[in-house]
Amino acid sequence: MESDSVEKNAAMNVFWYKMAKCNNILIRNIPLLGCIAFGIIDRGTNVLQVRPISECPLSCIFCSTDAGPYSQQRISEYMVDLGQLVEAFEWAASYKEIDDIEAHIDTVGEPSMYPQLVELIGRLSENKYVKTVSMQTNGFLLNEKLINELDSAGLSRINMSIEAFEPDLARKIAGIDSYNIDRLLWNAQYIARNTDIDLLIAPVWLPGINDNEIPKLIEFALKIGAGKKWPALGIQKFLQHKNGRKPDVKVMSWEKFYSQLEEWEKKYRTKLILSPEDFGSHDSKALPRMFRRYEKIKAEIIGPGWMKGEKLAFARDRVITVVDAGNVPVGKEISVRIERVVDGIYMAKR
Ligand code: SF4
Repeated sequence: MESDSVEKNAAMNVFWYKMAKCNNILIRNIPLLGCIAFGIIDRGTNVLQVRPISECPLSCIFCSTDAGPYSQQRISEYMVDLGQLVEAFEWAASYKEIDDIEAHIDTVGEPSMYPQLVELIGRLSENKYVKTVSMQTNGFLLNEKLINELDSAGLSRINMSIEAFEPDLARKIAGIDSYNIDRLLWNAQYIARNTDIDLLIAPVWLPGINDNEIPKLIEFALKIGAGKKWPALGIQKFLQHKNGRKPDVKVMSWEKFYSQLEEWEKKYRTKLILSPEDFGSHDSKALPRMFRRYEKIKAEIIGPGWMKGEKLAFARDRVITVVDAGNVPVGKEISVRIERVVDGIYMAKR
């Protein structure tokens, strides 16, 4: 059974307004489970992903979620009411019956776009089931004052995505002219040297584009003292996603990727091949899954979807993304078939 708090969220009352080319939607009074673009995601481990906002100020050439001002696929951006996000998190955390939860703020955009980020981190770190509060960021909107506030609020770790040192290349990869790599590097150094927040630098390796930058980033991370408690680096292999941007990169096998990481591990004497155990991750009781694949259900359309052609729908206290409902009006009940169920995220078709 769901808790009262989640039951309460079943009432439909989505407030939204239009800006620029996107629907900008404040998520309030709908369930915060089931949609990849906002809310809480549980993948059956002690890590609960927290997604307060979907917007991003960058438009990286490799972005797997087609985020930012030059997005071609998105039709909506979402922001979640702070009180309701915390309430949903508290329910999810207590349901798991463990006391070493990592609350991981990792949006489909940039968490520091969320106006109440500091308060959110404070509320998550106060939770008695939470051991670690971590956050992904591109670092673009950070500054000394905000970093100090995040530190005081109890943020344990920042995973910062930096792809290149060389300013023109860094700007080209970030996809916007105002990208200033020097400011980002300063922020990274400030976090590592002046706060209790641990820093992990997480570059995406784009073969043929930033090969020469990765060793420089390893040297930088080690020089500034990243990785006080967790690994200093999390180098990511570029993977192409259906709705993501597709830069002109050379295809690299997993074998080549890992053998290069192994070589760098020896050269720099630091851990680069990572496993969930390096972050204290382990399996734990999953939140209730409400639908099975291919199940036919009735759902009510409650608002615009995230990508073109999509609508958000509601059934059994979950949000479902209906991928072919672009023309269906809000408030209408329709029959859908659940096509995809991954870690409590639901995609359906009419
Ligand atoms: S910072 Fe992340 S979310 Fe934003 S555009 Fe770059 S890859 Fe996408």
